[in-house]
Amino acid sequence: MIRTRFAPSPTGYLHVGGVRTALFNWYHAKSNNGKIILRIEDTDTKRSTEEFENLIYEDFDWLGMDFDESPKKGGDYGPYKQSYRYDIYKRYINNLIEEEKAYYVFYDKSGEEIGNFAKIPENYANKNYTVKIKVEKNKEIKWNDLLKGEISFNSSDFEDFIILRSNGVPVYNFTVVVDDHLMGITDVIRGEDHISNTPKQIIIYEALGFSKPKFGHLPLILGEDKTPLSKRHGGVSVSYFREEGILPEALLNYLSLLGWNNEEEIYDVREKYKNFNIRDVSKRSSVFDYEKLKWVNEKTLRSMDEEKVSKKFLEWLKFVGIKINVEENYIKDVISISKEKVQDLKGLWEFSKNYFYDDFEYEEKYKEKFVKKEWFEELINIAIILLEDYDEKISLTQAEEFMKSLAEKKITGKKNTYQSIRGALLGKLVTPGLYETISVMGKKEVVKRLRRVVK
Ligand code: GLU
Repeated sequence: MIRTRFAPSPTGYLHVGGVRTALFNWYHAKSNNGKIILRIEDTDTKRSTEEFENLIYEDFDWLGMDFDESPKKGGDYGPYKQSYRYDIYKRYINNLIEEEKAYYVFYDKSGEEIGNFAKIPENYANKNYTVKIKVEKNKEIKWNDLLKGEISFNSSDFEDFIILRSNGVPVYNFTVVVDDHLMGITDVIRGEDHISNTPKQIIIYEALGFSKPKFGHLPLILGEDKTPLSKRHGGVSVSYFREEGILPEALLNYLSLLGWNNEEEIYDVREKYKNFNIRDVSKRSSVFDYEKLKWVNEKTLRSMDEEKVSKKFLEWLKFVGIKINVEENYIKDVISISKEKVQDLKGLWEFSKNYFYDDFEYEEKYKEKFVKKEWFEELINIAIILLEDYDEKISLTQAEEFMKSLAEKKITGKKNTYQSIRGALLGKLVTPGLYETISVMGKKEVVKRLRRVVK
């Protein structure tokens, strides 16, 4: 059975590049009826934090990406967190030392190497040491990369290298080999920035007598300037896009387009995995294009019904800390008349927030062109009087009839009449349809807002 893994270090926010790596591992496992595990690589004790670790779980929960085994879920091959596995690594390091495949290196106070030793000399017990693995000279180290084909290095490019640091913590290249082996990982798929680590890991696999997994190195995601996507390019973390109102479905959909040349553009990644073949993934880097992501987001948003969008919208409001005090049905109605006009949840909020608050500021342009005009107050007062004939619930046809009879009073031109009411209800001049707005708000709210503008 194929077993893949995603192995983030909790030293920063989860980056979209990481999510794409996780996603392709997920696709590769699922399309082969295999399993994917999540392993937390927190051996960099200075930079790893529990907060970042928890954010990784939270981000994957939000994305709706599930792992078969993980620190939270457990599994038969745990613990899935490297800081809980030091005893295991120690055991393997000691084995290598016993077999003379690795040795101690001692240092004096200034950090200079004093010498190499097969055992800890008795009078050296208090001195600093590291453990290095022996690298045989002039051997070919090669693998058949799942994406890039054959890659080979000469072992003479490497000196003997440290596997246990002087602070007692083993290095990444060592822990990753022990874990991938013990966790039964068959396919290691990661970013191509790790290609230079792979020969070192192969040296360790061979020294430990472990059989090697398959390796596949994904091309990197680049920024517009063609350098690897990083914080320098602005927001690149999952939480950034979440805050911007991007839907998790759309983010995964878009990331899966970066390198996987699927025929369709808009799809549910949870349904598409069956067609995935790691060998179809492009060998070329892709450029991250936020506009395209927004386009995918817009399409995804439109494909969802009001029920789903309002659930997403409420979750988003909670996430960014906005409180609104209205009924859920009202939210659904507002969404139904606004969602075609926006690209994301943040845009939906910007576009529709004045439906939820009635203490908004009126746009300058509205005040200049309408509120300050001599006919304005009379128009609004007549509107309020006309509304007396209506019940609380105003249908679309009634809203239209009301606006038409107001325009017929000819207090000002038809366009001015409509824009005056629009601005009074929502503070601005570009809004969802006016009849729809009146109908969604109902008589009491409409009258309240009309009174406010002439106060
Ligand atoms: N912890 C490593 C990283 O975050 C994992 C690399 C790997 O997949 O082997 O880059």
